[in-house]
Amino acid sequence: MSVATDPAGARGDLGDARAPLLAVDNVEVRYGVSLAVRGVSFEVPVHGAVALLGPNGAGKTSLIRAISGLLDVHHGAVREGDIRLDGRSIRGWRADRIVSSGVGQVPEGRLIFGQLSVEENLRVGAAARKTAGVEETLQQVYELFPVLGERRSRQSGWLSGGEQQMLAIGRGLMAAPRLLLLDEVSLGLAPKVIEDIFSRLREVRDELGTSMLLVEQNARVALGFADY
Ligand code: ATP
Repeated sequence: MSVATDPAGARGDLGDARAPLLAVDNVEVRYGVSLAVRGVSFEVPVHGAVALLGPNGAGKTSLIRAISGLLDVHHGAVREGDIRLDGRSIRGWRADRIVSSGVGQVPEGRLIFGQLSVEENLRVGAAARKTAGVEETLQQVYELFPVLGERRSRQSGWLSGGEQQMLAIGRGLMAAPRLLLLDEVSLGLAPKVIEDIFSRLREVRDELGTSMLLVEQNARVALGFADY
């Protein structure tokens, strides 16, 4: 299996090749006056997999939103600290620019468009990308998750929970990311399905060198997958 990444447009002109892929530096997130995250720092090395563990309400999703530029949608903001991609600050960047810079996301709760077909959902994932290579990535996602290929014309709302999670991951991969943010991928899924999904993610990681940041409540699963 191989999914094409998009190095062009990813590192940008000013990136530092020696820097970690992602650096979160002393970040504070607030929703209005309400504090959600304070003083968080960590790095994701190139080709690395990092797990962020914590119970409900610890601030994991807020950190993912801070990295992906989606805090403003939730009336939140990064108030302190910095977030750097390839050594370059992306704090305050728009979400589509962050996706185009190589950061894909699999959001908590999957956020599948239930009325759309499987393939339409996947194509949404490539919206911030130039058209070149999109068809190839689509075929590669179908290779990775054959069940999505079999159900490509089916309305996504009818898929099982595990299939919807595969679809959410496939949609994230359609952006050809160098870094994939995965928010609670294991939530609500049977152990066998979780095992299957993480073995596919390992394939993506090993064969493409895609870096991953996963937030999880399931420490066993996360630590079995991540290096840090
Ligand atoms: P969960 O696993 O339940 O998603 P989490 O670790 O991802 O938890 P967050 O969802 O980031 O945690 O929540 C961190 C804190 O920020 C919580 O106190 C939460 O109530 C608050 N919070 C999250 N989203 C908002 C929002 N849109 N407006 C106000 N407060 C919020």
